[in-house]
Amino acid sequence: MSELSRPDFDAIQLPAGKTPFLHLCWLLHNKCNHKCSYCAEINWGGNFENLSLEACKNFVQQARDHFHDRKLMVSFTGGEPTLWPNFGELVRWLKEDVNAVVMMTSNGTRHISYFKEIAKYFDWISFSYHPEFTRDEKFFENVIACSASTNLTVRVMFPPNPALFAKSKSFLDRLVQKQEQGEIPGFVKVESVPIAVGFGTEFTSPAKYNDEQDKVLFNSIREFNTEKLAVEAMPISQLRAYRTDHPDQENWFEPNELIAREKTNFYGWKCDIGIEQLFIDHLGQVVRAGCRVGGEIGYLSKGVFRFPTKAVYCPKQYCHCITDILTTKRSPEWLAKIENESMSIGDRAVTYLNSIRYDWMTQITRIEREGTNDISDMTLSATGKLMNFAPMVLYRTWYFILRVFVYTRVWTMRFLIRVFYARVFWKPYFFIRYQYRKRILKLDKPEA
Ligand code: SF4
Ligand code: SF4
Repeated sequence: MSELSRPDFDAIQLPAGKTPFLHLCWLLHNKCNHKCSYCAEINWGGNFENLSLEACKNFVQQARDHFHDRKLMVSFTGGEPTLWPNFGELVRWLKEDVNAVVMMTSNGTRHISYFKEIAKYFDWISFSYHPEFTRDEKFFENVIACSASTNLTVRVMFPPNPALFAKSKSFLDRLVQKQEQGEIPGFVKVESVPIAVGFGTEFTSPAKYNDEQDKVLFNSIREFNTEKLAVEAMPISQLRAYRTDHPDQENWFEPNELIAREKTNFYGWKCDIGIEQLFIDHLGQVVRAGCRVGGEIGYLSKGVFRFPTKAVYCPKQYCHCITDILTTKRSPEWLAKIENESMSIGDRAVTYLNSIRYDWMTQITRIEREGTNDISDMTLSATGKLMNFAPMVLYRTWYFILRVFVYTRVWTMRFLIRVFYARVFWKPYFFIRYQYRKRILKLDKPEA
């Protein structure tokens, strides 16, 4: 992967005095009624067990107790979160009993009556438009119905394929037209969203667009009926950034545009994932963020979590998810100049080694997606896979040996004791006895 450029600022953070928040970004399951070509099967395959409602509530309670000084925000996604069996009860509990800010990203294809019933529990609904599957008229109906009772974002996906790109553009134009004609009653934010190759996996890279397509994607955020906006701070928004030369001056950037311009290389930045954000995947595994940097925190089904207390240093060259990008992060220059802090040698080494693995696997994800006949690409893919799986193979081999020992420990112990006696006790004994008999008793051969 070519090296992506770093952004034109040095820090993303909340201004002083704002209540810090904990954002739970939650993939409830991997079922979806769509199969978008740019989305990994892991997001829509539906091949994992549903989590129990109790396990979900237990996790939220523990996270709230641990991060008690932070305001809790929960945003659901999937797959399609509204297909999760206990979704209505979970969002009602979060809103009414936990008093969390509740949001979701949905593909907006459930019946209008469902959305009318459930919208009251949400502070924010984000509908994503997917040109391969979305039925425009039904989608418009749901946008109009939900915007009457909550804040709304419409995220229009723009795959680089010309036909799909044109369909998304036509939908976007009609949406703007409907708003201008007064058909959409509440606050609506509209975004044109570029696609990431490997979306939904750990290893992502930006999709390529031509110049005409780039123009549609840049400066794409539009907000309508802003006087009806009911939440002051929203997590999916423009980002507030600062530069070391004017550290008090706020600058505003669009995350989608940074992604499209490939300016989301935060390698070596100190990033507050795990403190400001937790990510729960469709298996109930809790990690720090969608990028999965920083390792596992726990599983919902086990109910035991090791919540982080420290930020991580970013080992990736491409941060592709908007909620990940919006998380507080500071460049090495900002840390040195403003916070008088530098990276330890250990952190440098770990970040560098991790970066090699991520780069390698990102290239392989791209090669597999785009296909190749190039022998060097194929070799890279094969060796990369081997390197990625080598630690797992070693771990499994060691685990297997341990299991064998545990199951056969009586036999193994007997065997080891015999070997011990044979080598350490009996052999020296017979040797001494032989020497004694040979020299003192003048016998040539040892007794049988
Ligand atoms: S991108 Fe969204 S709507 Fe499309 S298949 Fe994936 S989860 Fe479903
Ligand atoms: S990829 Fe992960 S660690 Fe790196 S900046 Fe983005 S969220 Fe932070």
